[in-house]
Amino acid sequence: MSTPLYFQTIAALAGRLADGGISSVELTKAIIARTEAVDDKVHAFNSRDEADALRQAAAADERRAAGRTLGPLDGIPIALKDVIAVRDQPLTASSRMLANFVSPYDATVTERLKKAGAVLWGRLNLDEFAMGSSTENSANQPTANPWNLDCVPGGSSGGSAAAMAAGEAIATLGSDTGGSIRQPASLCGVVGLKPTYGLVSRYGLIAFASSLDQIGPFTRTVEDAAILLQAIAGHDERDSTSFKTEIPDYRAALESKRGPWKLGIPKEYFGEGLDPEVSKAVEAAIAFYRERGCEIVEVSLPHTQYCLDAYYVIATAEASSNLARYDGIRYGHRSKQAKDVVDLYYQSRAEGFGEEVKRRIILGTYVLSSGYYDAYYLRAQKVRTLIRQDFLNAYRQVDALITPTSPTAAFKIGAKADPLALYLCDIYTIGVNLAGLPAISVPCGFTSGGLPIGLQLIGQPFAEADLLAIAQAYESGHDWNQRYPQL
Ligand code: GLN
Repeated sequence: MSTPLYFQTIAALAGRLADGGISSVELTKAIIARTEAVDDKVHAFNSRDEADALRQAAAADERRAAGRTLGPLDGIPIALKDVIAVRDQPLTASSRMLANFVSPYDATVTERLKKAGAVLWGRLNLDEFAMGSSTENSANQPTANPWNLDCVPGGSSGGSAAAMAAGEAIATLGSDTGGSIRQPASLCGVVGLKPTYGLVSRYGLIAFASSLDQIGPFTRTVEDAAILLQAIAGHDERDSTSFKTEIPDYRAALESKRGPWKLGIPKEYFGEGLDPEVSKAVEAAIAFYRERGCEIVEVSLPHTQYCLDAYYVIATAEASSNLARYDGIRYGHRSKQAKDVVDLYYQSRAEGFGEEVKRRIILGTYVLSSGYYDAYYLRAQKVRTLIRQDFLNAYRQVDALITPTSPTAAFKIGAKADPLALYLCDIYTIGVNLAGLPAISVPCGFTSGGLPIGLQLIGQPFAEADLLAIAQAYESGHDWNQRYPQL
């Protein structure tokens, strides 16, 4: 049986668009129809604009007819997490605070996707302001995992991952502050790439923790991740942390870089809390690399045990400062109950933010307050330096690291009521953000209950070309990405 259009890859569809086998309007209609058929169950989308998507698709077809095609993304339907600005489209961060907000401008990544001819399609659900690991913290309905609708898709980019698994987009973008691309990719059985901090512009991304946030792709294959990264990576003068570095041809690197590589297994990532089925799948992946001639060595990242603590000080501190702008005055929710202007701030924020966001703002304000700044924030920054140093030390020995992406497969919606239980979902992903490194999650198997498992590969700074090649070496020896959930 041939794969339905909505489960095909960018690479394959670009070929079919080029040879006239399909049009972008046909493809976009297939995605719209699929979404209408399944999104009542999956709830991946916060909002969609079918007419606008079809207009973009028609424009792509006209360009193609005139011989002015813009590249492999031209005419491909791509949906964005609802924290990435698209001009004249809603931008809500899945928060009541921004429930009626429409973006007056495009994020840099949006602008670049438009230039590449992509058909921008819909805003995807997330944990409010990207704070969470399950998409249950959304002010909207929680998104369901297409592999088991009683389970979470992971988070915070749960909508971006679930939309991929369900065939509601050909690719999506998410953001990753502590694991929010890789963990949902792992739980939904798709590829998710978090680029090196500074590779992709954050301009137009609603800020959570500015020193950690990065935008990155969700795709079905590593090759598609390379194509999408190519379009969005590169220096942007509107983001002062954007790095000036030459952008290689990522897709060509998949051909030219063939290993064998020296791969490190950080021993701290295989301890307590790791589900035996996940451990087994990752062990099998390690054995696969070994059989392909890669040298596998055990390495140590001794400060791993402090990652979660350092993250929850730094991320909340930055969040408390970033979210101060939602004051009910300039934009966002404004309370109708307020007695005076000071009360307006209080009431607007009390009504607009959800529980987890408030918890983080309170925590972050505390760790930044005078008298505590040195004890918490400054100390966490020093620990962060040690964590980065651990990785750089390991890279003197190895090309990349292999770990599980998430300690468990998807869990039931509502199963982790205690915030700390949710925070622990990210123990293998958070160190990467603190160290500013690139990392990718690729599908590496299924549990006995039929839920996807993800393998994390962590690369050296700005070495995405190598990371993608290493990931593809695994992917090309397996067919996990050719299984689709029954919906
Ligand atoms: N789950 C982590 C948190 O809640 C990471 C979220 C993210 O990467 N945006 O902060």
